[in-house]
Amino acid sequence: MPSWIRQKLRFLAIQKPFAKLFGPLYRQNHYRIEIDIIYACNLTCPNCDRSCSQVSSDERMSVEQIEKFVSQSTQQGRRWEQVALLGGEPTLHPDLLGMVEMLLSYKKTFYPPVRIQVVTNGNGTYVERVIKRLPAEVEVRNSHKTTQCQRFYPVHLAPIDYPGYRFADYTNGCDNVKLCGLGLTPYGYYTSAVGGAIDRIFGFDVGRKTLPDVVDQMLEQRKLLCRYCGYFRRDEREATDRLRLSAAWQKAFARYQVERPKLSRY
Ligand code: SF4
Repeated sequence: MPSWIRQKLRFLAIQKPFAKLFGPLYRQNHYRIEIDIIYACNLTCPNCDRSCSQVSSDERMSVEQIEKFVSQSTQQGRRWEQVALLGGEPTLHPDLLGMVEMLLSYKKTFYPPVRIQVVTNGNGTYVERVIKRLPAEVEVRNSHKTTQCQRFYPVHLAPIDYPGYRFADYTNGCDNVKLCGLGLTPYGYYTSAVGGAIDRIFGFDVGRKTLPDVVDQMLEQRKLLCRYCGYFRRDEREATDRLRLSAAWQKAFARYQVERPKLSRY
């Protein structure tokens, strides 16, 4: 099917009447998770979907929070297919190796098939040195970035700033919830890690403090967070190295600069 027809069909499918009839387009994947352990990065890519370039900060997860994640996972009997550590640049977290050990102990004692991953930009000698120290059981997803001008889809174009999305049903989410799964940030569990990064800037403080059940579609989070997410405009987005900011994001960044939102920790 030509891509323009697919785009039109998807645009129709995300409108309220369709969602009411058929339910959300994407189901939450409860067997993959992206854990954002740090929001600092050694690069400043303009359209970073965790907003690390616009507001790099000292917010980071603690080893205790990873311990809590492992304990909630085992208590619920969750057999993760994939657990990925990201950021920001995860190798900059001083406790990365300790966190990895905890996840490997979950793998060893609870569910050996799980893939434990570290997602890195691979940029610079410090990052390279940390990567070399990671245990062999860890998969390294290295994007080998060499410059800060990476082309990304413009996540900071909020659909609510565009009249065409007036009747959109945001509980649809996007394919991230299916492909990447849940997000976990210092502030809790989210429908996607990108959603968690939106909450960090807008300050709704909606992160869940316990691991959501496998039937939970996290729709109340999508309804709120996807309104601000450029990925919701899935078929219109084009990768670019030029910073794109719609009005809602400009205001949110301005508010953040005046006072950083206070979110409750996980
Ligand atoms: S916040 Fe963005 S990435 Fe997350 S589900 Fe919504 S549209 Fe997708």
